[in-house]
Amino acid sequence: MKIAFIGLGNMGGGMAANLLKAGHEVSAFDLANEALDAAAEQGCSTFDDAGAACAGVDAVVTMLPNGGIVKSVYETDVFGKAPAGAVLLDCSTIDVATAKGVAASAEAAGYDMVDAPVSGGIAAANGGTLTFMVGGTDKAFKRAEEVLNAMGKAVIHAGDAGAGQTAKICNNMLLAISMIGTAEAMRMAQKLGLDPQKFYEISSQSSGYCWSLNAYTPMPGVGIESPADKDYQGGFATGLMLKDLRLAMEAAETADASTPLGRHAKELYEKFAEDNGGLDFSAIIKTL
Ligand code: NAD
Repeated sequence: MKIAFIGLGNMGGGMAANLLKAGHEVSAFDLANEALDAAAEQGCSTFDDAGAACAGVDAVVTMLPNGGIVKSVYETDVFGKAPAGAVLLDCSTIDVATAKGVAASAEAAGYDMVDAPVSGGIAAANGGTLTFMVGGTDKAFKRAEEVLNAMGKAVIHAGDAGAGQTAKICNNMLLAISMIGTAEAMRMAQKLGLDPQKFYEISSQSSGYCWSLNAYTPMPGVGIESPADKDYQGGFATGLMLKDLRLAMEAAETADASTPLGRHAKELYEKFAEDNGGLDFSAIIKTL
């Protein structure tokens, strides 16, 4: 398949490399020259503008920073430039309303489109082990699957357009809340004189078990090895968690969903991100 890839940053670079490994031809575009040079070294053909990269392709994949950029790239450089009938896949994490709007415009312009945000960070993007949560019609999903399988270990059809983004932000809101809860409980156990490792042993096998405690223990030297053991370097950056929480709160408002803990988690991460945006999100335990 011939695939245009737009946005070859931390995530997109590895994803494009996995498309090449699977035998696809990749036409790449990024605003940053270093991202384009790295893509060329991997074996992508590179272009001076996104529209030119989309000429003659079967599919377009985008991995971009936010909804405003996604909307403008599709409207300016993809619609009318990619051949009619090409399948379009936006893998960025963006707001649900923009994802739905761009998908509707794509359909009107004669394209099948999916929103396909990912779970898994840079290591999963490089390793081809991302999880994709996909929103779109059955037909669009089936067409997108072949492209996504080359970049991930799981590809799940969540529902209609926007459902992938909905799944992503609801999951990450839950993750933020459970990480803060885990950190609070571990700190409180410690302050009350309980050995944190003992608390981990007990709670990870009791009703307190959850991914944040069992698989991503936020306290250094306790439980499973995690970013906490590397001074909170690597992992999932606080700044990106905050981005997802902001998207979640925006969506909650439009759906009139009551999310008191989500809102509070966003406030706590907002404050923490002021000086610690680059640290792994489990470092929120430092504030407790
Ligand atoms: P990044 O900033 O490293 O990469 C984004 C790339 O898009 C950059 O190379 C930038 O130059 C390029 N770009 C920006 N505007 C452009 C335009 N108009 N045309 C072409 N290229 C343009 O970001 P990232 O970490 O790769 O994240 C990409 C997306 O993936 C985001 O939506 C993010 O929320 C999501 N995500 C990231 C992670 C992670 O761990 N990094 C995990 C899950 C999801």
